Amino acid sequence: MIKKFLKRVFRKSLKVKTVGKAQVIPFSLHGVAREQISYGAKKVTDGLQAAGYQAYVVGGAVRDLLLEKTPKDFDVATDATPEEVRRVFRRSRIIGRRFRLVHVMFGEEVVEVSTFRRMIEAEDAQTDAHGRLLRDNEFGDQEQDAARRDFTANALYYDPGTQEIFDYHRGYADTRDGVLRMIGDPAVRYREDPVRMLRAVRLSAKLGIKLEAATAAPIGKMKDLLDNVPEARMLDEMLKMLLSGNSVECIQQLRKMDLHHGLLPMLDVIWAQPKGEKFIKLALHNTDDRLRQDKSVSPAFLFAALLWPEVQTEWEKRVKGGARPIGAMHDVMDEVLAKQKSRMAIPHRHDAVMKEIWLMQQRFEQCSGQRPFRLLEHPRFRAGFDFLLLRCASGEASGELGLWWDEFQDASTERRAEMLQPEGTGEKKRRRRKPRSKPASSAAAE
Ligand code: ATP
Ligand code: MG
Repeated sequence: MIKKFLKRVFRKSLKVKTVGKAQVIPFSLHGVAREQISYGAKKVTDGLQAAGYQAYVVGGAVRDLLLEKTPKDFDVATDATPEEVRRVFRRSRIIGRRFRLVHVMFGEEVVEVSTFRRMIEAEDAQTDAHGRLLRDNEFGDQEQDAARRDFTANALYYDPGTQEIFDYHRGYADTRDGVLRMIGDPAVRYREDPVRMLRAVRLSAKLGIKLEAATAAPIGKMKDLLDNVPEARMLDEMLKMLLSGNSVECIQQLRKMDLHHGLLPMLDVIWAQPKGEKFIKLALHNTDDRLRQDKSVSPAFLFAALLWPEVQTEWEKRVKGGARPIGAMHDVMDEVLAKQKSRMAIPHRHDAVMKEIWLMQQRFEQCSGQRPFRLLEHPRFRAGFDFLLLRCASGEASGELGLWWDEFQDASTERRAEMLQPEGTGEKKRRRRKPRSKPASSAAAE
């Protein structure tokens, strides 16, 4: 409290100069040091500035540093054109057709460099029938570049040379106050690009800052505009949410704002079933934890988890109705994926992995004979086992089964032999036996 108060007084007592329409926040006020910028981003801004161009670190990285979070990556904005940037850095390439960006490579680090752009005036803008901007890639100056960005916190330009922040929309004050505010008229900006509604939810959840009232207000009314966003872009945004490290907060916030419809069509159904909600929450928490520990997360695993309650419920229904388990599983998997894809295009390349994970779940029930050994050899055993653990944690599979597989994987040959259940136990065994007993009926016919 006192610290906050002193900061305020201190802030007021410092003079903030202005250059054109920008407020220039000095290092003594914001405290973000050059050393906090990545090696590659510093090289890029230094190189471009030495060649006579303007160059700043911009966007999420500046915002995250002000909020004392570790930035995911460092983007650079400059007045040099993509070709000019290329000429300064040998190890670079121009990417993208619509927005031409330059990737500059420094070993493992890739710095994305964008040329200042401007928003196209309303009369020249190409929009779709719903007002969505189809093109906004005209070059501009820094002030124009700031105006086309989404939130004030995302429109801050940090110069690693002088350690100053250029701020055109009071983004510094908003960030310090923990407020996410749309630049310009929020309703107009959401119409131009409805994905900004999802970004608002994701960034406020991820950063733990609140959506300013006027920024939040139109979202409820405008959410249907999300229907016009191309599927690939929806998937991109959905993945960013799920892999943000705060997926639980993101999804909860989406639901609160009634934005979740259409993203994962089954999310509503799933959430309504107590079992499903528990499972998905566990899967999301698990992902968040893994990301916090810098472990990898596979999108296929995550989607497999999100869709599992639907697959499982439908499969059980069919098996109870007399369908053959494996055949029913294949049908259900295809149907669930088709239904999901009608809205959000989970890339086909994930299909195989999702199906493998799902199919493996039945095989985990088989703890006798050669079957467990064959399952251990499965190239995706690890993912399948992690998935089983989620099912155990949610109460859908027995805890004992998880423990059995946990031990069996690393057990000695002798121990494994002891652990194997005698042939003929377990549901699947009994089912398999049936056809074998058939010849008996022919014997009866003798
Ligand atoms: P993250 O931490 O998820 O990377 P970010 O804000 O850096 O968050 P990016 O998608 O990397 O998000 O975008 C970089 C910058 O580009 C943003 O900070 C913002 O200034 C601008 N931007 C991104 N998407 C939009 C959009 N839909 N409309 C306007 N500006 C955008
Ligand atoms: Mg970013």
